[in-house]
Amino acid sequence: MAKKSRPRTKQREAARTLEKLQSARERLFALEAGGSPDRPLHVVSSAVVETQAESVPCPRCEGKHDVAEHVAVTLRGTRLREARLRCRQCGTTRSLWFRIGDALPN
Ligand SMILES: [Zn+2]
Repeated sequence: MAKKSRPRTKQREAARTLEKLQSARERLFALEAGGSPDRPLHVVSSAVVETQAESVPCPRCEGKHDVAEHVAVTLRGTRLREARLRCRQCGTTRSLWFRIGDALPN
């Protein structure tokens, strides 16, 4: 098939490119500090978890997050907090992970 570049095709290509970019950003978010229980963000108290979680923009659309839930989770003996976030703009959900207390030397 010959490659056509009619406007509609271009639009589809743009949408695909955007979708690829957004999933790449989503994967990057998961690799950054706080994106997984293996790499929690350190906070001094649970009182700041929600404020800090809300200050992180949506990796897909850079919209603001709402904290849908804030739960205490114990994983492999480490007590963590999971902030379940929902983007106000695009409605996607993700979690941010926190560890409360002093940062431990690695
Ligand atoms: Zn969003």
